[in-house]
Amino acid sequence: MTIVKKNLLAGIRNLDALLKKSKNVLILSHYNPDGDAIGSLLAMYHYLVKKGIKSSAVVPNDYPEFLFWMKGTKDVIVFHNNRKKVSDLVRNSDVVICVDFNDFERLKGLGPLLKASTATKVLIDHHPNPDGNFLIKIHDTSVSSTAELIYNYIIKTGDKKLLDKTIGECIFAGIMTDTGCFSFNSSSPSTYHIISGLLKLGINKDRIYNLVYDNFSYERMQLMGYCLNEKMVLLPELFTAYIYLSSEEMCKFGFKSGDSEGFVNLPFSIKNIFISVLFAEKRDHIRISMRSRGDFPVNDFCEKHFNGGGHKNAAGGETKLGMKDTIQKFRNALESYKNELELQYKHRQQTLFDTN
Ligand code: 5GP
Ligand code: MN
Repeated sequence: MTIVKKNLLAGIRNLDALLKKSKNVLILSHYNPDGDAIGSLLAMYHYLVKKGIKSSAVVPNDYPEFLFWMKGTKDVIVFHNNRKKVSDLVRNSDVVICVDFNDFERLKGLGPLLKASTATKVLIDHHPNPDGNFLIKIHDTSVSSTAELIYNYIIKTGDKKLLDKTIGECIFAGIMTDTGCFSFNSSSPSTYHIISGLLKLGINKDRIYNLVYDNFSYERMQLMGYCLNEKMVLLPELFTAYIYLSSEEMCKFGFKSGDSEGFVNLPFSIKNIFISVLFAEKRDHIRISMRSRGDFPVNDFCEKHFNGGGHKNAAGGETKLGMKDTIQKFRNALESYKNELELQYKHRQQTLFDTN
């Protein structure tokens, strides 16, 4: 049996009741959509369509090719390429379901349109501190991914019979990508209870792994080698490594959206590194992806120093500074956490090598 918290149950019941009287539902996810964003978006979309509810699935900008295999990809409307269509959809929707983000800022240019809409806004998400824009919240920071919440939603509304392989594949993709293939954020037995349910639907988990992780270009692999060889800097006294890439370098390796996926996790293979950052130069800003292992809250760090946020162990942000100044700012900021990082190192040594 799937156990769901009390406040979640209230959110689930409220959304179920709302959907029974809704006419046009819009499902939305965040800028630079990742596997959990697209997996959750499409799982919810397929489910609502199966229920006979008129629904559209929208994201602010393009998403990487390694997610195109999911059924329904051709139905996802990208705001950047269809501004008029999406404006009309937002205006004509009576319910907007936001999945895998909790702050309209994460919609970039689509945010103001949503703010102006009179639709009932619903949140399905696992990021901390949702903003006040949502009337109904299905929110739990303890789950691995938003996709898990979608699974629980479908089960708890009594619609288990509507779960099928297509929905299951999208949910699996969300859980798999948001846990780095079950290497973090995935120690709750309930996650594996859900995976068991998905396998019973007939999903092929190895195929999904191959489609997501074994489908990159030769140039992307070369870029990875270049990053590791020439663009990775270690700050051993801060237990940190970072990789920095200019747009020129990315261009040289035929960079496509999603090509830097996973790069930020590479330095964790190095002994005693538990903070890792990727700085990537975009058209008019530097994008920061930050990860930690253990207790260092990278979401607080990114919020404080780089106008961003996210989860405790995976967050992002951006700056308008140049690369050199961004890195300098990062190093200065991190330096102020030196004592905290040393304590964490000691704690990690004790827990990692504790054999009891
Ligand atoms: P990534 O580094 O993969 O872009 O993002 C890691 C995590 O941080 C994701 O959960 C993502 O939703 C969140 N995140 C990334 N960038 C931002 C940002 O600028 N603001 C906030 N609030 N969250 C972000
Ligand atoms: Mn997520």
